[in-house]
Amino acid sequence: MAELFRNFIAGEWVAGATASVNRNPSDTADVVGEYAQADAAQAKAAIAAAKRAFPAWSTGSIQERANILEKVGAEILARKDELGTLLSREEGKTLPEGIGEAARAGQIFRFFAGEVVRMAGEKVASVRPGVDVEVTREPLGVIGLITPWNFPIAIPAWKIAPALAYGNTVVCKPADLAPGCAWAIAEILSRAGLPPGVFNLAMGRGSVVGEALVNDPDVTALSFTGSVSTGRGIAAKAIARMAKVQLEMGGKNPLVVLDDADLPTAVNVAVQGSYYSTGQRCTASSRLIVTAGIHDRFVAAVADKLSTLRVDNALLTGTDIGPVVDASQLDIDLKYLEIGKGEGARLVTGGERLQRATDGYYLSPALFSEAGNAMRIAREEIFGPVACVIRAKDYDEALAIANDTEFGLSAGIVTTSLKHATHFKRHAQAGMVMVNVPTAGVDYHVPFGGRKGSSYGPREQGRYAAEFFTTVKTAYTAA
Ligand code: NDP
Repeated sequence: MAELFRNFIAGEWVAGATASVNRNPSDTADVVGEYAQADAAQAKAAIAAAKRAFPAWSTGSIQERANILEKVGAEILARKDELGTLLSREEGKTLPEGIGEAARAGQIFRFFAGEVVRMAGEKVASVRPGVDVEVTREPLGVIGLITPWNFPIAIPAWKIAPALAYGNTVVCKPADLAPGCAWAIAEILSRAGLPPGVFNLAMGRGSVVGEALVNDPDVTALSFTGSVSTGRGIAAKAIARMAKVQLEMGGKNPLVVLDDADLPTAVNVAVQGSYYSTGQRCTASSRLIVTAGIHDRFVAAVADKLSTLRVDNALLTGTDIGPVVDASQLDIDLKYLEIGKGEGARLVTGGERLQRATDGYYLSPALFSEAGNAMRIAREEIFGPVACVIRAKDYDEALAIANDTEFGLSAGIVTTSLKHATHFKRHAQAGMVMVNVPTAGVDYHVPFGGRKGSSYGPREQGRYAAEFFTTVKTAYTAA
């Protein structure tokens, strides 16, 4: 019998209405655990607990809040190897990637521990004599956090930490596919000294627990990361009841490679950004837009590099790329490989289903060339180890292709030209721009988010997180 991991509601560990089995995508015989699945009534109980806890928490000691967040961050950092191993086991990222993500979650908690005591308002002169004006930030209330499977510890951390830091109470619903890391954060929070109800974990289906959060009038604000279609549905319902909402969704991120690029840098940036974490990153560079003078050398060098990467069990030393997360994502990846071939792109390398010592969802990293930006493989997010090369005649055409997408999360360029790097930083239509570094891989203390179809609402992370997790008050006092 696998261990049952329970929900955390009103300071108590409670079994769900049902449970779901969390399996290791590197080895489907390995069961990580059974995780409670809340029903609508349990989700409602979590929201009610968060509502009851809000008045005291939101007006309580900021030193206490800072201490708790610091303690959580320190424990996550101290246990990063163990938590990173859990992450790799349930999601399929390689061990170094899993440990790196766990460490990042710890750093995020520590960052927001500091932000608690750095929060400041403004005192400004009134245009009316004898009146003082103050502008302050206040917490919102109960926040519903809905997170995806692909960053199962970092994304819950970058929503939970600021939500609590700014004085809100929380109900967190992690992805059903990889709830183990969010459960581990909840377990650490449960021992950190939080009053009951300030933080609640309600695992379960999006269509049940997620919907309950989205539709409940006691949930003041919703922070969501996931797919475009789910995000749009959540936004429509949240706005209909005037709830504050923040969405981080998909990407079809371009990486422009110019003739003057250093070829080894271009290859490393492309391979790291497109294929590491099995390409399952919203910031992955899935469109490689390459100017004519370097095109053929770049395609050959990327293909060579891909042939040296080891695709295997995420927990093995030496694995570069772990498995795809589950059978249905693997089907999607394979379907897009057929679509790409059918559209006339050339499959240069990869795209093969691989067998390894353990039964998992292994796919060799796939590179298409001769792709057009109108093709579905260049327009739709695949979310797997699949990238396509689009040829451009010069920088201007490459920039136009880079911006010709409904998404706008991350955009990169590899060049030695200051002129083109500077122009690209200004004119790439994306929330994050990268020069000679991969489109994926960001710092924890600066804003994260995109434009166009990728994001909606204020940015996450860094000091900018206050925009979403607080509301502004303007107070006038007759002197
Ligand atoms: P989904 O949109 O399928 O799920 C995200 C979360 O929403 C899950 O917790 C899911 O629950 C929940 N959910 C599903 N349906 C509903 C609903 N009707 N109401 C409320 N909640 C619901 O995305 P994935 O988990 O598959 O994640 C992959 C996607 O996330 C990719 O498209 C990727 O680009 C995007 N992403 C974006 C990032 C960004 O910051 N821009 C970062 C990481 C990922 P359940 O698990 O039960 O389905």
